[in-house]
Amino acid sequence: MALNKEWHRSHRMPQKATREQRIKWHAAHAAACGCRVIPESIRPDVEKLLKRRKR
Ligand SMILES: [Zn+2]
Repeated sequence: MALNKEWHRSHRMPQKATREQRIKWHAAHAAACGCRVIPESIRPDVEKLLKRRKR
């Protein structure tokens, strides 16, 4: 998937993001854009969040 510029413009990662903020950011990012992979260190939490959102 290509970089989703519009999404990135409206979803800036905070300079000092907490772990929770990064998890939320990556969960939203994975659904909107594919320019980055989810870091191993937070991947289980991101996947948990994505699964919870699924209908
Ligand atoms: Zn992206």
